[in-house]
Amino acid sequence: LLTVTGLHKAFGANEVLRGIDLSVRRGEVLVLIGPSGSGKTTVLRSINGLEIPDAGIVTAPDGIRIDYSAKPAKKDILAMRDRTAMVFQHNNLFPHMTVLENIIEGPVQVKGVSKAVATAEAVALLDRVGLAEKRDVYPFQLSGGQAQRVGIVRALALKPQLLLFDEPTSALDPELVGEVLAVMKELADEGWTMVVVTHEISFARGVADEILFMDGGVIVERGTPKEIFTAPKQERTKQFLHRIL
Ligand code: ATP
Repeated sequence: LLTVTGLHKAFGANEVLRGIDLSVRRGEVLVLIGPSGSGKTTVLRSINGLEIPDAGIVTAPDGIRIDYSAKPAKKDILAMRDRTAMVFQHNNLFPHMTVLENIIEGPVQVKGVSKAVATAEAVALLDRVGLAEKRDVYPFQLSGGQAQRVGIVRALALKPQLLLFDEPTSALDPELVGEVLAVMKELADEGWTMVVVTHEISFARGVADEILFMDGGVIVERGTPKEIFTAPKQERTKQFLHRIL
């Protein structure tokens, strides 16, 4: 579903990505782990064109091929954005809109879905994550965990081919983390294709098909959860896991 090769990105003199290769098949969950500042967020943002890499090739079905070394075609970047939806660390719900309005905004404004259809779909999705009764409240009236679940629903409402999660639980109080991870696990079980940046190792262990350990803008090690968590080969991986486990 997605292939990324040779991704490079510098911010001024700071070389944040130094040649990243990854691929995700339909229905797979890829989890990126690694220390703060290792470039994980930048990888996610480069996949959907929120960040424009200096070099690298991103390919997706239907002939999408974005070569950032050449001047990338705007229409391909937009097509890529169209296929992906991102859930952020801080839910960035619009504070002046109700939960329902937040969810239907994208489908109605960007995808041209009718308000009636978008509303029916939003209500069904809210019901699935146990938040049907919150449709008419404002984001400030939600707990952090509820707001993140609404953020996930808002991403799903766009019907993306690929879901991108950028540390969706790291800003939450510990007791609210579980409810968000539970929704993510359900989505994985349903066959959604996901790329997830997270420090939640038990989630990664249980849900990921492949784990990439990043450090210093490169992928130091990749493998199944079992390979990475029970028998890491690289010293840097061992040290990182030792610190966080
Ligand atoms: P974290 O877990 O802290 O989010 P990360 O692994 O996701 O870390 P990135 O957010 O990708 O790392 O950041 C990698 C580096 O790039 C950091 O040094 C960061 O300061 C820098 N960086 C990221 N975005 C920008 C930007 N827009 N302008 C300048 N520097 C940036």
